[in-house]
Amino acid sequence: MSFKNLGLPNTLVAALAEQQYKKAYPIQAKAIPAILKGKNVLGIAKTGSGKTASFVLPILTNLQGYGLNRNRHPSALVVVPTRELALQVSEVFKQFSKALFDPVKTMAVYGGVSINPQMMGMNGVKVLVATPGRLLDLVDSNAVHLSAVETLVLDEADKMLNLGFKEEMNRIIGLLPKKRQNLLFSATLSPDLDSLSTILMKDPVVIKIEAEKTTDISQIQQSSYLIPEEKKGPLLRYLIKTKAITQVLVFTSSGYKADNVANKLRKNGIKASAIHGKKSQSARNNALNQFKAGTLPVLVATDLLSRGIDINELPYVINYELPRSPKDYIHRIGRTGRAEASGMAISFVSPESLPHFKVILKKSKLYVDLIDSATLDLKGY
Ligand code: AMP
Repeated sequence: MSFKNLGLPNTLVAALAEQQYKKAYPIQAKAIPAILKGKNVLGIAKTGSGKTASFVLPILTNLQGYGLNRNRHPSALVVVPTRELALQVSEVFKQFSKALFDPVKTMAVYGGVSINPQMMGMNGVKVLVATPGRLLDLVDSNAVHLSAVETLVLDEADKMLNLGFKEEMNRIIGLLPKKRQNLLFSATLSPDLDSLSTILMKDPVVIKIEAEKTTDISQIQQSSYLIPEEKKGPLLRYLIKTKAITQVLVFTSSGYKADNVANKLRKNGIKASAIHGKKSQSARNNALNQFKAGTLPVLVATDLLSRGIDINELPYVINYELPRSPKDYIHRIGRTGRAEASGMAISFVSPESLPHFKVILKKSKLYVDLIDSATLDLKGY
């Protein structure tokens, strides 16, 4: 469906066309008109379905002509489970806000970095995107007040519950005005989520997107190499060079290994960074931003990155080490070929991990070619 008939201002429709958003994805076609009318929405959809724009665009529209709000009293609050998602969602707000006559100040707040700049930056913020713990720290230090929030978004609510944020979420909800719009997004429906949505909203507009793009892996080409553990480094460099790969996300199973792989690539003259849970937040942000911007060709990551993070039209994903479960395999390779672009996922399989790889493929009902790396000339790589 075209964006023209959804009730968005012309400036936003023009900005969408400029960003190559040619038609509205199903979740957008359904959620945008409902949110513009002030309705509550329960969206069952994964990252990759276009859910972020489905709430960002109508929230920005509803905030037009709103005038100044009381300082440190945001009008819209988006609660997300991870720092990366906070940054990603606030970027989408900023990207579309630029097109408006009345730009909407948005800020992302999350833990793992100093709280002071976030406290100082809160002036004039209309849309606050936050992880639960840091949001409560900011409330407790009077840096932000939630009594003027008119729209609440809980994004990836199932993940927030899984990560044990239930108490924090309940406390946050208790701080909000009773009369408000609630938008709840989740990849899955669970009894816990059901009870959350019952507390939050009566008669929501329920939007269920069945065929999520992340799990539709039909457009992803998959291959694998049988390779002894000690030859994986040369094989990685061989593939990067012979396939002229300019952007690849490489998965390892530990932070230690991720550092190791990135170091070896750098020693061989290939620009690479590693990101994992033990890296500082600013190092993670820097590496991710450079990778997204295309200035860093290789990002080596642990499964920290396999969920939720959207990297536009990533051409290659390499499993340097196999994921633990079939579910993780699908999540990892789902980083490529997203939003209707094709992609390539390559797995390195050591002889010891071959049985595990076969189990992954069988459970995912996949057939993937296994190339014996002994047929390749890896000398000099
Ligand atoms: P999300 O599910 O919000 O993480 O979005 C997934 C990806 O799809 C992002 O890279 C968006 O920029 C892109 N996207 C969202 N909506 C559209 C659209 N209507 N047309 C083209 N790309 C879109």
